[in-house]
Formats: sequence, structure tokens, C-alpha cells
Amino acid sequence: MSESTEKSRGQRLIEKLEYKSANAWEKIPVREKVFQFCDGYKAFLDKAKTEREYVKEAVLLAEKSGYENLDKIIAEELPLTTGDKIYRVVKNKAIVFAIIGKKPIENGTRMLGAHIDSPRLDLKQKPIFENTDMVFLKTHYYGGIKKYQWVTIPLSLHGVIIRKDGTSLEINIGESDDDPVFTITDLLPHLAKEQMEKKLGEAITGEGLNSLAGSIPYDDKDVKEKVKLNILSILHEKYDITEEDFLSAELELVPAFKAKDIGFDRSMIGSYGQDDRVSAYTSMMAIFHIDDPEYTSVCVLTDKEEIGSIGNTGAESRFLEDFLADLCYLTSKNYSDIVLRRCLNNSVMLSADVNAALDPNYEGTHDKLNAAYMGKGIAVLKYAGARGKAGASDAHAELFANVRKLFNENDVPWHSTELGAVDKGGGGTISRYVANLGVDVLDCGAPVLSMHSPFEVTSKVDVYSAYKGYKVFLKKYE
Ligand code: MN
Ligand code: MN
Repeated sequence: MSESTEKSRGQRLIEKLEYKSANAWEKIPVREKVFQFCDGYKAFLDKAKTEREYVKEAVLLAEKSGYENLDKIIAEELPLTTGDKIYRVVKNKAIVFAIIGKKPIENGTRMLGAHIDSPRLDLKQKPIFENTDMVFLKTHYYGGIKKYQWVTIPLSLHGVIIRKDGTSLEINIGESDDDPVFTITDLLPHLAKEQMEKKLGEAITGEGLNSLAGSIPYDDKDVKEKVKLNILSILHEKYDITEEDFLSAELELVPAFKAKDIGFDRSMIGSYGQDDRVSAYTSMMAIFHIDDPEYTSVCVLTDKEEIGSIGNTGAESRFLEDFLADLCYLTSKNYSDIVLRRCLNNSVMLSADVNAALDPNYEGTHDKLNAAYMGKGIAVLKYAGARGKAGASDAHAELFANVRKLFNENDVPWHSTELGAVDKGGGGTISRYVANLGVDVLDCGAPVLSMHSPFEVTSKVDVYSAYKGYKVFLKKYE
């Protein structure tokens, strides 16, 4: 034994000088904890398939963890003091949590930011049409999808319809075992000669993404579109809605399958919507599992990231700034705009978003030296962007150094990555919008395979590493 463990001079020098990222499973001693945490994550994924459902479930969990609604506190003119836990819901599609820290808020906050919208198929405002005795729902896809992945799979319908009289109806069809589902058909191979010769991106068209929704005719020989009438009649009877009510609705078709373990060793998770609910859930759990932080802790979960972070629920809007302004106002004796400005400029954020894991089935997409890997822990991304870093929020070396030190000292499995090889494509996160406010921001999150597909894959050890890293950041980042 003693002979084989003796290292040569060169081996010792390699250990001292070379940087190598390790397999995270070898660094996490208690695997039970990883699996347990991921069971909670999977259950949450099944309950929160849309941004609205996420917010609703998050409020339930937050209130159980002792969080109070900030707008209620404001309305009742209650004070806000150190250790208080609060949340704010933004238009039912985004949510912010905070714990008031021991230090004054103008010393800055420690923030985690993720997004809770995912690519999907939205119903058009006039979705229903009949063709050859079948009824279809027209869709307009949301976010970057490969359209061919969304046909011939079971889809569930989620969302909200605001009726003519202003009452609101929540829709969730296709999640229970006895619910019907929806689906978009594809051509049989026997007749697909022309389709198969098309480019992958053109074989399925956007206007062709029409979902099957019924086929029984209404019993009246004088009516022209009998199947459509029958569907409208069912909808009217069951939900008290008419066709016009779809105009004031937000309905999303999402994959109907549930989150599952992948592999003989159950080491990975397959599910819809892990971009970016894996980061949203791990950040949210991180803030739920800490008490009395030095700096005010914030976790902001935004909407519309997949289409550019726009609108008043997206990261480009001012809802985060307004939330912090309220915290400054309620915790400072003499509020002025400068308190908020100082708070922002002294704040640090980990922008929690997924990373593109290297897929060995597709060579050449990544620079292997700088790729994100499955099972190597949370992936830290100094910059994203495309074509010469355009559009990137490039984290400062000083910030990277602080996070690196923090993760190393607290045994958080992590590795440094880039979003794919140079000039192969690219992307961005919410980091640049928050950086615009003066906040120091660094991107980091779990690597994902099949990103933006109906069944995205993560490694459980990376999910757990992300949770651990986010928690350490809120608790210990100086
Ligand atoms: Mn994302
Ligand atoms: Mn995305």
C-alpha cells in the first residue's frame, strides 16, 4: 500500500499547478441528501409547469417558511426589521423573496436571480378551427424551440381565461391520469418523402403546429361546423365560456409527462421546464433554508426571459428596483433615492440560469477545455453572448475570484464554462439587465442536456451543487 501511494515529484507538481475539475459525485459524501433534495425538486416540477403555476406554488411554500406578503405589510403600515422574511408577487407571473439582513440595506444585498418561464406552445387568441370533421387549436410557439420535437407527444393545457364578466378561470387539463391530453400529429414515414428531404428547421412549420382537440359532431343537420359547435358546447357547459373568451386568455400547451429519474443508477432527471426551474427551485430553496443573514438576501424569479426579458414581469423592467426601493424605504430612517442607488451599487448577484452541457453525441459544439459537463457541479459562466461576446454580461475577474474562493472553501462542486464553442451560436440570461442597475453579476447554474426540448436532462449532483452554492453565497459572501 505504502509503495503505490508515494507520488513522484512530477505528480506532486501537477497537483499543485494544474487546474482540473472533478466529478462531483466523488466530492459529495452523502448521496442520500442529493436524492432526497431532488425528489422535492421533481415533485415541484410536476406542480409548476408554467410561470403562473410556479408563482402560486412558491407562495404556498414561502408562507409555510414564514414569509409575509410585502404589499400587505405596506398596506397595514407595519415596520420591517432585521430577520423579517417577505415576498412580492408581480402580476401573477414573477415573484421576489427577501430576508432583511443585519447590515443596513445601503451596504447592498446578496441576490439570486432565475427565470420561471420556459419554451412552450401558446394558444393563439382565436385558436379553434374545424377541418375534415376534426377540431384543432392553433398555436404560436414561445421561446426558442426545435419544432420537430413538439409533435407526436402528449400535451397538457395550462393557463387562465378571463371571462366577459371579468371572472377568472384557471385551466389545467392533461396532468391527472384520467385527464384527456392534446397532441400535434406528424406525417407517416410512408408519405413523408418530400418532408424528409427538407431541412430540419423547415420540415415542421410554425403554422403547422395545430393541436388535435376533438372529433364528435353536434347533433343538428342544419349546422355547418358540427364538431366545432360540439366542442364550444362542451366548453360552455363545463367552464361557462364562449369562443370570445379565448381572446382574453393565456393558455399554454406543455408536455404532459412527469419528471422522471434517468438511468440504472437514477443519477439524472428528465423533465419539461428545467430551464430555468432548476435554478429557480434551487435558489428559492436556498433562501428558504437560511435565517438571519448579514446582508439582505434576495431571490428574484422573473418571467419572459425566453423572449428577451421584456415587459413588466421581465428582468428588463423595474420591478426588482421597485422592490428594493420599498425595502430601502421601510428599513431606512431617512429614505432618499441615494439609499437605493447605494444599495444597488453595493449589491452582488448570482444569475442562476442553466448551461449547455457538452453532449458526446454531437461533436464540435463545444470547446472541450471550456465546456459545461454533466456531473461536475454548478457551472460558472464568466460571460455568454455570441459572435465576439456580443450581448454578454462579462463578470469582473474580482467577482469571479470571490465566488471561486467561496465555493472552494465551502466544498461546492463547480467548474468554469463557456456557452459552446466560439461562433457556434450563443445566448444570454437576465444578468445583463441586472448589471445595468449597477449590481455585480455572475452567471452560474446546472448544466442541461436537450435544453429547450420537451424533456430536458440534468444531473442530480449538479442540481444539489447549485442549491449548495446558492445557499453558501447568501450566507457567506462578504
Ligand atoms: Mn434559461
Ligand atoms: Mn432558455
